[in-house]
Amino acid sequence: MTEYPHLLAPITLAGVSLRNRSLMGSMHTGLEETGDWGRVASFYAARAKGGAGLIVTGGMAPNREGGVFPGAAGLFSAADIANHRRVTDAVHAEGGHIAMQILHAGRYAYGKECVAPSAIKSPISPFPPRELDEAGIEKQVADVATAAARAIEAGYDGVEVMGSEGYFLNQFLVTHTNRRTDRWGGDYANRMRLPVEVVRRVRAAMGPGAVLVYRISLIDLVPDGSSWEEVVQLAKAVEVAGASVLNTGIGWHEARVPTIATSVPRAGFAHLTARLRPEVSIPVITSNRINTPELAERLLAEGSADMVSMARPWLADAGFIAKAAAGRAAEIAPCIACNQACLDHTFSGKLTSCLVNPRACHETELVYEPATVPKRVAVVGAGPAGMMTAIVASKRGHRVALFDTATEVGGQLNLAKRVPGKEEFYGLVDWFATMLRAPGIELRLGQTAAAEDLAGFDEVVIATGVRPRDPGIPVEPGAKVLSYIEALKGAGVGQRVAVVGAGGIGFDVAETLVHEGVSPTLDAGLWRAEWGVSAPWQDRGGLAPDGPQPHPPAREVFLLQRKAEKPGRHLGKTTGWIHRASLAMKQVKMQGGVNYERIAPDGLWISHGPNREQPELLAVDAVVLCAGQEPERGLSAELDRRGIPHHRIGGADVAAELDAKRAIDQAARLAARL
Ligand code: NAP
Ligand code: SF4
Repeated sequence: MTEYPHLLAPITLAGVSLRNRSLMGSMHTGLEETGDWGRVASFYAARAKGGAGLIVTGGMAPNREGGVFPGAAGLFSAADIANHRRVTDAVHAEGGHIAMQILHAGRYAYGKECVAPSAIKSPISPFPPRELDEAGIEKQVADVATAAARAIEAGYDGVEVMGSEGYFLNQFLVTHTNRRTDRWGGDYANRMRLPVEVVRRVRAAMGPGAVLVYRISLIDLVPDGSSWEEVVQLAKAVEVAGASVLNTGIGWHEARVPTIATSVPRAGFAHLTARLRPEVSIPVITSNRINTPELAERLLAEGSADMVSMARPWLADAGFIAKAAAGRAAEIAPCIACNQACLDHTFSGKLTSCLVNPRACHETELVYEPATVPKRVAVVGAGPAGMMTAIVASKRGHRVALFDTATEVGGQLNLAKRVPGKEEFYGLVDWFATMLRAPGIELRLGQTAAAEDLAGFDEVVIATGVRPRDPGIPVEPGAKVLSYIEALKGAGVGQRVAVVGAGGIGFDVAETLVHEGVSPTLDAGLWRAEWGVSAPWQDRGGLAPDGPQPHPPAREVFLLQRKAEKPGRHLGKTTGWIHRASLAMKQVKMQGGVNYERIAPDGLWISHGPNREQPELLAVDAVVLCAGQEPERGLSAELDRRGIPHHRIGGADVAAELDAKRAIDQAARLAARL
């Protein structure tokens, strides 16, 4: 008897029988653009093997003007069809099903050729779109239908028509972007004409026996977004036009509300899918911040949806459903919704991967082969780098001893999980702890490894991490100065605090210090109030008329840096704005271009600019140092002195800009070749 009877129940869409209720949501990986279709096929085949019910590909452009960026992949030629055929064959060989997403970006297309219902530039693109005339609209519809026909020719089980997230079809639906006065604009019946016509033509192009997923925006989170009545009207019309299933879209890309970041409550938007479900006769799919089989099961069991879409969790673990079905859910590597190796990579033009699973999108290149000669491996440091080394090395057949001075595994991840909004790190540490129970791993916790302890091992890996950098600011007697470690562990800091250093940790510390009470990430109602999200049946687009109502800050915080630039500029590409907005809502005073003169009992003396002008006392009760990290290399240096060869990874190797992503990736790659 499975723990997940609803999740693992089959479902039939347009005559296509899916083996379970999980949908792997569309993600742009960048793999198609490498031209290496063997690699694309391996990526999807691994997820099919791992039990995904229906895979949806990354968005494929129906034509050049609709591509998200110039050169975006699509199905334009016979060669393209042959390439896609490799993917569909590989997925079908694993017993899976796959639909191709057709994504027309409209005014979000990053190129001069972009087109839209009206010539209104988007706030997130430098390119003003060209307003389409009647013939131009017909061309777009025809191109989408042609892409659908080609998808079927390439062996796909159907398509997903991307109608949400503020892309082309969504742009026709709302007056925010559609100011037309012809039959494609004006009242709602006219504004929804294009999406409905697209669905009708796609269905006609594919025939009745193919899955047609329509991704519908349930909450736009932009001014003048759709009302709930309009959402329901569209859903019904799309059903009549031939959709087999409705997938949930949340928020336009230009929305100033986070929709998938780690601080968004789990399943924080599933109530919208639940509300839509009784309005239509076709199945509905819920989405956003669902990352465990338990949660997916609960949503299905309580009737919120007929299927559950998870996207990034399939990067974190290609075997998500297979492990759940085998009663091994604790072994599913959790997506912590950090975006660090997936979306942040996409928006930097890099190939997608995953912080917790460096093999994601690197399936053919990073392979954990069984070791030809099993070795005895000592790993010192049970932070992300050391833990990943131990897991991969033992998986390959090596015998590993993992040392740490601490009595628990996790290293700095145990600090991260204390930050409000980063609760997902608890699950990540739990996963590491589970995987470290592998028979080939001996945990030697509470033991500071010395050079002599490492004798007799075939390989020694030093992953001793980092220690906080002392910025060397003069401190007067009686002044209160804390490390970020003490601050995150809850040491008393008083009511006014200065944080020195505005990197990732400075932001985390500031977030922790201004917060009190329940984390909004664990209380969806609180979270919605903080970000000004209402119900779309109350307010158009789901934006509360009074805007964000953040909980008052627990204390007054100054967040400082020496660089004369906006603090937080170097945070994650897709999440930095959330951290900055969150602290701004809590009235944190962020200042760049400061010099730290001295820390006195009555506060922190700073000056401004290169000439150290305008000395000023920030009258604070405590100063928290978040001035970066130095590698912890004491043991490594001792091994060097004794001529003992070893590998140095993670923060012990390079502390600058160190993050868990780089540490885990470096560890996995080392362990793959030990
Ligand atoms: P960091 O990002 O390198 O930031 C260090 C901060 O300290 C900077 O603001 C720097 O700004 C300042 N600083 C450096 N040397 C200083 C000195 N001698 N005196 C005074 N200030 C100094 O390091 P971190 O904040 O410790 O974070 C470490 C890593 O953890 C990050 O690289 C990040 O990847 C990861 N992390 C990320 C997040 C996230 O993305 N949310 C959260 C936590 C940790 P100035 O030089 O301008 O003063
Ligand atoms: Fe999830 Fe982070 Fe991995 Fe992206 S990088 S899939 S958000 S864990």
